[in-house]
Amino acid sequence: MHFAVLAGDGIGPELIAQALKVFSAAAKKYRLNIGYTEALVGGAAYDKYGTPLPKETLELCERCDAILFGSVGGPKWENLPPDIQPERGGLLPLRKHFSLYANLRPIKLYPPLAASSPIKESIAASNVDFIFFRELTGGLYFSVPKQISDDRKSAVDTLRYTAKEVEAIAELAFEAARSRRRILTSIDKANVLMTSILWRETVASLHERKYSDINLTHMYVDNASMQIIKNPSQFDVILVENTFGDILSDEAAALSGSLGLSPSASLNKKKFGLYEPIGGSAPDIAGQMIANPIAQILCLALMFRHSFNLPEVAQNIEKAVEKALASGVRTKDIYTGSQGETLVNTAKMGSTIVDNL
Ligand code: NAD
Repeated sequence: MHFAVLAGDGIGPELIAQALKVFSAAAKKYRLNIGYTEALVGGAAYDKYGTPLPKETLELCERCDAILFGSVGGPKWENLPPDIQPERGGLLPLRKHFSLYANLRPIKLYPPLAASSPIKESIAASNVDFIFFRELTGGLYFSVPKQISDDRKSAVDTLRYTAKEVEAIAELAFEAARSRRRILTSIDKANVLMTSILWRETVASLHERKYSDINLTHMYVDNASMQIIKNPSQFDVILVENTFGDILSDEAAALSGSLGLSPSASLNKKKFGLYEPIGGSAPDIAGQMIANPIAQILCLALMFRHSFNLPEVAQNIEKAVEKALASGVRTKDIYTGSQGETLVNTAKMGSTIVDNL
């Protein structure tokens, strides 16, 4: 097995260096026969090749089983034509090229960080640990017609789903629920939208046929947006369509207290995955070695679990992160100055996690 490492711009390379430290330690400990190759993407690739996604990089990814992605973009490339901007020309074509239809976003509030969460400490400390399965290639963002009139007086986007698309993402979510607490919440707006009626029927039918051991609840999206704040520990696996998932998963990620804590995975049907932190390239802190590498390191754990089918390695990396946080080390974004906390830089957070592996 082999993965491509695309560090990108800004804090991307600093964070990827920490993830690779953890990878090397895990590879040694578990005697893994997995290799990686680094390549350029985003602004760094544009500077060298004149394109944010060079042919060499795409060909490397095609030969690999997964992509460990940093982040792309920054002020230096902001005025380029849209199609060759780092995100639009580097990251989005990768998602499209590999048909990455399932977006996974684990949301976890680490009890030692409860004070950093914007919600009440008592709620934040209440075992908040769930994962989004968001449909990523259908719905409002991609259905046609999609146009704006020449006179700029009307516009249309189309919301279309097929039962096959719904079933594909639902199947993944049900499988994940089986290896977790067996609770699945399917989000829709079935009181208003026809696509949501299809969504609900398809999920219910799959549940009845194959997953009746899972505790399935249907929840309207407006209620879900409240429940995520009021009672987040009720969730285990959240199944959601593209647009609702985009909004709800950002809302939920904010609960953890820092953008530097949340990883994500985008998978295709062959379990090829692109693994990236949810944050961007953070030009405001790039080069200072103060960024939090935890999201990037947790991307590695997701890659072990979903593309390499090594859940025990994934779990041990996640535990090492938890132990590091319990020991009090904090990068600046999660440092509150409380007793028992030690302010550390990016590299020290990385090596503390390695030590705990
Ligand atoms: P951002 O996520 O880069 O930064 C927002 C804030 O969060 C900043 O204050 C930043 O310092 C902080 N932050 C982000 N990651 C952090 C980490 N690991 N540790 C500590 N603090 C962290 O969003 P932005 O400022 O809107 O965008 C900056 C650039 O990143 C833009 O060029 C944007 O297009 C790009 N971007 C890329 C991706 C991607 O590669 N997937 C995603 C979002 C934004």
